Amino acid sequence: MRKKIVAGNWKMNKNVIEAQQLMLQILHYRKENPGNCAVWIAPPAMYLLLAKDLYSTQQVGIFAQDMSAYKSGAYTGEISAEMLESIGADGAIIGHSERRQYHNETDAQCNIKVKLALDHNLTPIYCNGETLEQRKAGDHLNVVKKQTEEALFTLSDEEIRKVVIAYEPVWAIGTGETATPEQAQEIHAHIRSLIAKKYGQKTADEVSILYGGSVKADNAQEIFSQPDIDGGLIGGAALNITDFSKIIEALDA
Ligand code: PEP
Repeated sequence: MRKKIVAGNWKMNKNVIEAQQLMLQILHYRKENPGNCAVWIAPPAMYLLLAKDLYSTQQVGIFAQDMSAYKSGAYTGEISAEMLESIGADGAIIGHSERRQYHNETDAQCNIKVKLALDHNLTPIYCNGETLEQRKAGDHLNVVKKQTEEALFTLSDEEIRKVVIAYEPVWAIGTGETATPEQAQEIHAHIRSLIAKKYGQKTADEVSILYGGSVKADNAQEIFSQPDIDGGLIGGAALNITDFSKIIEALDA
């Protein structure tokens, strides 16, 4: 059965005191409210070891926001899959639209990163999603198809079952604009059917597909109620415990 997941992407926010405070609040919340969905956070890379120390009993999964497509060597500023594995991180977000937009990341690079992550026992959260122009042009299904196929379809059956996909329409990220539950469900079902066509329905039914894009405490439940939506990748609302815990509660329900 596929996993239900709420993952918080902190992006480039919080100093170390604030980061530690929020990590402890999440831990406390989860201890008091041990629900059935997985709770993951992706803090800035420099706080991953701090998270690892605080979450020694694995109540909360620890993810990097990105990782290098290179194995090791002269790549200043990069963090490798091997390094993440060595500190006991659970995985990495790969192909976030902000990486694509500001760092020109491509599906081909994402493919290399996803494979490297899996080779190092890390769970990749692979992000895809169309821009506003692509949606207006009616191209969204094709765009997501290409992103999914190019980044993931070289994987084996066993490997793709370990990938988590996050559908994040670019026009809904940090804009306050959310895809309607029906719009999101359409793409989630589309992604699952692409996986089913390539790997079979049984495999497709094992892959968790999260929705991301202005998920908030007051719209989470409706979004999560869709049959092919297995949880959320949360940006802004993951930065405070009040909103984040309400979103977790919506998926636990
Ligand atoms: C994200 O960046 O992954 C995201 C979904 O952000 P927000 O929730 O702020 O739209």
